[in-house]
Amino acid sequence: MSQAVSRYNKSMDQQHFFQRGLIAWYQPENRPLPWKGINNPYHIWLSEIILQQTRVEQGMSYYLRFVEAYPSIRDLAAAPDDEVMKLWEGLGYYSRARNLLAAARYVTTELGGVFPHTYTGILALKGVGAYTAAAIASFAFNLPHAVVDGNVFRVLARFFGISTPQDSTAGKKEFTQLAESLLQRDQPALYNQAIMDFGATVCLPRNPKCGQCPLHTECVALRDKRIAELPVKSKKADQDRAFFSLFDLQLRR
Ligand code: SF4
Repeated sequence: MSQAVSRYNKSMDQQHFFQRGLIAWYQPENRPLPWKGINNPYHIWLSEIILQQTRVEQGMSYYLRFVEAYPSIRDLAAAPDDEVMKLWEGLGYYSRARNLLAAARYVTTELGGVFPHTYTGILALKGVGAYTAAAIASFAFNLPHAVVDGNVFRVLARFFGISTPQDSTAGKKEFTQLAESLLQRDQPALYNQAIMDFGATVCLPRNPKCGQCPLHTECVALRDKRIAELPVKSKKADQDRAFFSLFDLQLRR
């Protein structure tokens, strides 16, 4: 067997190990959140917008208040601007609230109140970037779109030993392609939730729980003692965050 073929097989083996290990590890009840395990696109979208630039602990009460005040997207669309802004008070990044209202009114007036049910339709909503569209598409409609956020970059960079800067053009392409190839296409919602929970609870930015990690036997960063250096971010992109969609800077999971 040529070296190239053997490397390819190793990579496929690694990918299968990763997929199987992640799904076997995932227990939805270990991290219950009100927007998990539901398929109401309006509620999922609300949670995703609130959790952009906001941590779960802070965003939870806002999510519950919004759902109670506006049980449907039509209720939100009909709400006065100042009432919605008041409810948003304290969360910051008020453009999110303005986008929420604009999108709710668009769905109500232009789409007859029916939330778009395709990836491109969701992506067309104001305030929705690639990450958020993939999350809504998979969680609400079980469509095969892989989420790629900070947690996913970190988990993939460490497990597969990828040192391409995650915020470079090449890095974004490499990570996105890998994430798409790893996605369990017959259960995208489950897989996406699993990798997000895994990044949020096991493969943490600092002090990852490698001792309890179901993937540790094949983890390249652990084997090569490179955990602290992965994922890599380019200095240029650090200085130039304006190039990034703030919509997809997820702090939450
Ligand atoms: S072994 Fe550690 S670094 Fe590797 S995937 Fe598991 S938690 Fe992350």
